[in-house]
Amino acid sequence: MTNSSNNESPQHEVIIIGAGVSGIYQLYRLLELGVDVTVLEAGDGPGGTWYWNRYPGARFDSESYTYGYSFSKELLAEWNWSEHFAGQPETLRYLNHVVDKFDLSRHMQFNCQVKSAAFDEDTDCWTVQLADGRTLTSRILFTAIGMLSAPTMPTIEGVESYQGEAFHTYYWPKEPVDFKGKKVAVLGTGATAVQIIAEIADKVEELTVFQRRPNWCAPLHNSPIDDETQVKIKASYDEIFERCRQTPGGFIHGPDRRKFADVPEDERLAFWEELYASPGFGVWIGNFRDVLVDEDVNAEFTKFIADKIRKRVNDPATAEKLIPTDHGFGTRRVPLETKYYEAYNRDNVHLVDLNDTPIERITPAGIKTSDREYPFDMIIYATGFDAITGAFDRIEFRGIGGEKLSDKWIDGPITYLGLQTVGFPNMITLAGPQGGSVSTNFPRGIEEAVDWATDLLIHMRAHHYTRIEPSPEAEDEWTAHVKDTYNYSLLGNTKSWFTGYNSNVPGHDKLRYMIYNGGTPRYRQRLTEVAENGYTGFALR
Ligand code: NAP
Repeated sequence: MTNSSNNESPQHEVIIIGAGVSGIYQLYRLLELGVDVTVLEAGDGPGGTWYWNRYPGARFDSESYTYGYSFSKELLAEWNWSEHFAGQPETLRYLNHVVDKFDLSRHMQFNCQVKSAAFDEDTDCWTVQLADGRTLTSRILFTAIGMLSAPTMPTIEGVESYQGEAFHTYYWPKEPVDFKGKKVAVLGTGATAVQIIAEIADKVEELTVFQRRPNWCAPLHNSPIDDETQVKIKASYDEIFERCRQTPGGFIHGPDRRKFADVPEDERLAFWEELYASPGFGVWIGNFRDVLVDEDVNAEFTKFIADKIRKRVNDPATAEKLIPTDHGFGTRRVPLETKYYEAYNRDNVHLVDLNDTPIERITPAGIKTSDREYPFDMIIYATGFDAITGAFDRIEFRGIGGEKLSDKWIDGPITYLGLQTVGFPNMITLAGPQGGSVSTNFPRGIEEAVDWATDLLIHMRAHHYTRIEPSPEAEDEWTAHVKDTYNYSLLGNTKSWFTGYNSNVPGHDKLRYMIYNGGTPRYRQRLTEVAENGYTGFALR
């Protein structure tokens, strides 16, 4: 039963779907305003990505002190990150701490799987249907459903027939998994696989990695934060966040403004050695600005990294297999690793190149390639996600006239500012496709999006508006602009989840314009202008 008929008010002013990094902060901001809001979360606790991804070795590649929320000085002062790059358990503890500190869980409903959400044109309200049969209504619907929250299994015959233990990394169990004495397979070599492989290599009997395309990985150089550094970090939060505001990716690392050709060779090599030896993403996004733009320059740095891999992997044939040949360094998301390449120097770790011997099927006992059958006690699927739009496709969103969002976005997302899409009024897509926040150090980007959306709600309340929707012209212009940003760097040319590819999802075998590549400062400027000019491009009524 829905109560969103003409003469009834919705049950809530706002429903937020998702209690991850975005949902938590959006809830906090709305409660400050006294908004009646509820959060619907599929998990049995908050944390989103950090709730689900419990696989061994899971940690972020952002400096911890750039990943926490910036909105509360008290929170910043009291929270001590223990490592420069915190692991999943610590990050989940942090998010739970935020929820407890600000008493947010009273407004969260857990174990709530949203099945569908439909916009009612008569009432300007959303009706949300839950898997448990309940129906909730709200004026505004915020989606905070994550960008890497729709995991994909490989579409290989026989997956269901396998009799051993099998996990997708996203659904890693809460209970400890015992690796001792086991023969384990890892399928995939993305950022997730790179972490888990390095972490379990010395804990399993045998580890066999099935690789289709290698990635260019670089060392994370994680370390504990000592007391003195902790004090320094806390004293410099203002500068840290200001630095993140200025860089394209919202990290403390920003491009070196020098061009490759302007720097003498010995100085250049010294700089590259320094980048390779430094913690975090500097090696990717703190490089000469033309490394990710000019193919020839990129090829030079790619050679430098290939040599690093050759030096770290003892067996030359294995080293060559681990060196990508189909794309240059940094043109896909660079996995940061801790002794990943050294794992292949262990006698119990084996690499199967699926280009030489493709998988034919998963069998009850293991994996059958064109070469032989490998028996396993455990198969770990580190096969990634139907990124960004996948989480939207898994909920049936219906807009004006019953239009399905998954139909509208079948060839790729179409949005205005990555925050709304025509035909779906009153639905704000936090961390949605084509938004600036998804291509950044996530919390930094998401704080911008949430703050903007909160100001929008304040504006709507002040003017008694009950409906907001972008104009088709604004949407066309933004979507064309997003497309254009794919020409800004070499990342736009390479097959990856950034460019919308996923071999396990039908139709996702072509370029889709998923993210805004214009950088955080430009995105922020655009959002600010839109708001200051009375929400240009939106129809409010
Ligand atoms: P991913 O980068 O998409 O990697 C998936 C891997 O599975 C790829 O190696 C892919 O091979 C392989 N694969 C998929 N289907 C396959 C099939 N049918 N047969 C053989 N191989 C198959 O996914 P991910 O590693 O989970 O990472 C996704 C993103 O999550 C990262 O890029 C990152 O943004 C985020 N992440 C962040 C961290 C961190 O902050 N440290 C850690 C983990 C993940 P192909 O390349 O050939 O498709």
